[in-house]
Amino acid sequence: MLNEKVVQLLNNQVNKEFYSAYLYLQFANFYVEEGLNGFANWYQIQAQEERDHAMLFMQYMQNNDAKVTLEAIDKPAIDLKEKKDPLETGLAHEQYVTSLIHAIYDAAAQEKDFRTMQFLDWFIKEQGEEETNASDLIKKMELFGSDAKGLYMLDQELGGRVYTAPSLTL
Ligand code: MG
Repeated sequence: MLNEKVVQLLNNQVNKEFYSAYLYLQFANFYVEEGLNGFANWYQIQAQEERDHAMLFMQYMQNNDAKVTLEAIDKPAIDLKEKKDPLETGLAHEQYVTSLIHAIYDAAAQEKDFRTMQFLDWFIKEQGEEETNASDLIKKMELFGSDAKGLYMLDQELGGRVYTAPSLTL
């Protein structure tokens, strides 16, 4: 049996991961409108990954007989204007998600819930990668994005990203 507080935080994380997918789809749509289909591709795949994360949290809860309650997903209330806006919003969002996952880990540790701690290990590592990817994108945009040719090349590069299923299986 999982602790009630831990269940509540895991259930909240399901919602936050679906929200992340929603936010990244908004980024993808913004880039489609900007004519940057490579950037759009990158965020469409990112959205797929976030959906995978939500599914993993749900499955973990269900494997441990915890009831999943699906709540309303917030509207992405972000005004995107500049081409770099999604990149900066994305990094700040991933830092926020990291703090949420750390808070679940903290609650699990207080309950000596070693199973949940081990489950979250993958996500803690994943969040490190997400933050690195987000900040790398900002750096690349700063280096190459101000020049039309550089932006084109960067868009081509991001267009090459392909979806891979998460390495975590439950
Ligand atoms: Mg995620």
